[in-house]
Amino acid sequence: MTGGDLGKTNEPLELPGSRSGDDPSVVIVGGGVIGCAAARELAPDHRVLLLERDQIASGATARAAGEVTMEPSYTDYPEIADYATDFFRRYDGTGTFEYTQTPSAELVTPDREDEARARVDRLRKDGVEVAFLEPSEVEDRWPQIDPSSFAGAVRFTDTGHLDPYTLATTLQSDAEAHGARFETGVTVTEILEDGERVTGVDTEDGAIRSDNVLVATGWRVNELLTPILEVPIRPYRTQCLVLRPDSSLSDAFPMGWIPGEHVYFRREGNGDLLVGGWSFAEDDPTAASERADEAFQDHVAGLVPRFLRADGRLRVVDGWAGIDGATPDTRPIIDSPADAPDGLVIAAGFHGRGVMSAPVAGRLVRCLMTGEDPPVPTRPFSLSRFDSRSPDFEFLSISAGGD
Ligand SMILES: Cc1cc2nc3c(=O)[nH]c(=O)nc-3n(C[C@H](O)[C@H](O)[C@H](O)COP(=O)(O)OP(=O)(O)OC[C@H]3O[C@@H](n4cnc5c(N)ncnc54)[C@H](O)[C@@H]3O)c2cc1C
Repeated sequence: MTGGDLGKTNEPLELPGSRSGDDPSVVIVGGGVIGCAAARELAPDHRVLLLERDQIASGATARAAGEVTMEPSYTDYPEIADYATDFFRRYDGTGTFEYTQTPSAELVTPDREDEARARVDRLRKDGVEVAFLEPSEVEDRWPQIDPSSFAGAVRFTDTGHLDPYTLATTLQSDAEAHGARFETGVTVTEILEDGERVTGVDTEDGAIRSDNVLVATGWRVNELLTPILEVPIRPYRTQCLVLRPDSSLSDAFPMGWIPGEHVYFRREGNGDLLVGGWSFAEDDPTAASERADEAFQDHVAGLVPRFLRADGRLRVVDGWAGIDGATPDTRPIIDSPADAPDGLVIAAGFHGRGVMSAPVAGRLVRCLMTGEDPPVPTRPFSLSRFDSRSPDFEFLSISAGGD
């Protein structure tokens, strides 16, 4: 199913409280990084209206660490990883957006060494630029990493970081330059349909007609979809801490993660250390604390001295938590499901990787709405890959490229 003929104007449909003016050909619900990326893709040849209940990039996007670890996250689909990282490299310098390519070190504990070495051999055969570094090589390359507790490190080169808010607002500016309209403080309360296709959305301020609706509402996706269909997406909570060493980390400090420890790390622009992760399913997302937990701080306090060589003390200077949407296999749903009304597209459940996935998501949404050929495989994102659509599934924690 595709989103139908976007150029065609349906017979006017009288809706209670319907707004006047040109009907948008696409309504995007949700102004996070995914909605903004889709708006940018569609704006050049569609009348795009994006509706955001709060402010642009105020949900999970505002809280993201900005890690781009598509290469280690999509080793089974390198073309998906390449698509995203190529985009960031080319987009670098657009407005104030910057992408900083930085290699990553997956620190391997001795119990995981055999698996990691076998994985590196397999990935190298598949053409992925990855290497297993012995502890002495880790030390030579990154003197501020202490490898003595580790069997070595898996090095990935095509990773990096960016500022998520700047990415989202730059995508927004691009979309607006092509005529897209962004309205904030507008909550969509219902997706309207006539039994066959979507006809628009209802909002607290009245209905808006459109033949195509993208639901990009992050972890809130089922709030809006439930009368029409259910998707296996549930909210989870994840956190970040920023630590300040007495002497700043060097520019060469890598990004990284430690499988089994539920954390990832990277250097902040000012030489601080950002540590993120510690993710758990969250059944009450609206009441969840936005601060980092003490348990996470304790975990980080025990873990960081195991891998960081830093003289003196490390002080916690910032910390926060946020909610994102999780799926059973940790990959998002980007689809116009066959059993949904025509014209309805879903892009949600980014499971901690929505910022880095935004270029892929934006383009795939466009392809779903226009029928254009997708530039990357879509199977990993289809709703039909799941046998059950229940949001009551076991949450899998991931940390950047690892588990
Ligand atoms: C602490 C933390 C660290 C993270 N680190 C990274 C990272 O390093 N790299 C990475 O790639 N990802 C990271 N993520 C994940 C990333 O932030 C998300 O996957 C991504 O932001 C999802 O984008 P989104 O647009 O789907 O959702 P959101 O940013 O949550 O946007 C959804 C928007 O929809 C709006 N909305 C919801 N319902 C309605 C409605 N009914 N009407 C109108 N508007 C509505 C919301 O207000 C919200 O603004 C992190 C997340 C957290 C919390």
